[in-house]
Amino acid sequence: MFELWRRALTFLLILFSLSLLLWAVAGALAAAITFGLLLFYRWVYHVRHLLALNYWLQDPEGRTLPDASGPWDEVFSRIYKMVREHRKERTKRAAALHDMEQATSALPEGVVSLDRAGHIEWCNPLAELHLGLDGVRDVGQHITYLARQPEFVQYLAANNFSDPLILRGPRQDDLILSCKLVGYSGNKKLLITRDITSFERVETMRRDFVANVSHELRTPLTVVNGFVETLHDMPNLENEMARRALNLMGEQTQRMEHLVGDLLTLSKLEDRLNVLQEEVLDVPELLPRCYEDGLALSGGQHQIKLEVLSDCKLLGCAEELRSAFSNLISNAIRYTPPGGEIVLTWQLLDNGQPLFSVKDAGIGIAPQHISRLTERFYRVDSSRSRASGGTGLGLAIVKHIANRHQARLGIVSVEGQGSTFSIEFPAKRRR
Ligand code: ADP
Repeated sequence: MFELWRRALTFLLILFSLSLLLWAVAGALAAAITFGLLLFYRWVYHVRHLLALNYWLQDPEGRTLPDASGPWDEVFSRIYKMVREHRKERTKRAAALHDMEQATSALPEGVVSLDRAGHIEWCNPLAELHLGLDGVRDVGQHITYLARQPEFVQYLAANNFSDPLILRGPRQDDLILSCKLVGYSGNKKLLITRDITSFERVETMRRDFVANVSHELRTPLTVVNGFVETLHDMPNLENEMARRALNLMGEQTQRMEHLVGDLLTLSKLEDRLNVLQEEVLDVPELLPRCYEDGLALSGGQHQIKLEVLSDCKLLGCAEELRSAFSNLISNAIRYTPPGGEIVLTWQLLDNGQPLFSVKDAGIGIAPQHISRLTERFYRVDSSRSRASGGTGLGLAIVKHIANRHQARLGIVSVEGQGSTFSIEFPAKRRR
């Protein structure tokens, strides 16, 4: 900067000195003409450089920066330095972007970046394959314009992305995708798709196998149980040992029948072709029946109370809900020592959600077990569960039924003091 000022002032100094000298030697006219000529020469010099700069700026990538002299030399060399730095930086960024593109292409999952309105910004090759997108042609299109499945559109609109969405046959009929949306950079979203076709196939095989085995076991078990009962009831069975053996056989076949029954119930609940049969269920009318069943199971050993605090009805499957309520009541009775209090409640929460709860003063559950209770065959104490006739599948069934009704199974328990199991239904199921 200082150098530019120095040069400009030096030029003016020379100009004025020369003109004054000429004025003294050759007169005022000669001095004025020289002054004018020198100024004109300087004007031409600046205009020439400005034109050269302007010409270069029209296509800085394709043209080389022109040579310059005098003060313009410094200006041009600064511009040249800036351009060189800028090109270096751009090459570095292009390489980083290329690396990123290669990394996202190598991901074992499909990735689509969506802007805040849901328009596609870019996608990797696997996402193109999964959703039938074209990474160049479809940029700027709304994602639901290309992935049109109603469940996907609903998932996007619901704006609740905590659980992945399972999408069947988005492109080819046998393709099953797990789709998850994650927010990033303010309100943009990443749509991540994973091919779970083979996993789902194995899962279906497992489900079919369990359902088939349970189904096949049912008939022989009924026959064996029938014969055991007939033999047991024979009036002339005097052998004490045979009687004890028959008792034991009867107990075990009944246990197996319960187990097979619960496995079949679970298979039915898991079957995606088995849609929820909804009706308006009068819960205040159903609960006294569950209460009576509870009283019979307890055999008068517990103080069971029923508190119906709301007359609200519920939209749901009567058979499934009765099974869920009965499972929770039966658990409370089986895990509460004689004399303990059990309270069944039906109420409407302040936020409008219907809630069924069973509170017992039983043995309670230690905190480390609570998150695993709904797993199949998970028992805190296996021998206690078996002794009380448990199959280890009750809470898995309740959880499935709750999920099918978009309800939440809540478990609060203190070891040695008691537990509260509740099913909290969404307000939209209230009738
Ligand atoms: P089970 O047939 O063994 O009762 P569930 O799936 O119904 O199977 O329950 C799983 C486990 O959860 C039980 O084995 C028991 O340890 C525990 N559990 C369930 N309900 C209660 C309860 N009300 N109080 C204490 N423990 C319970």
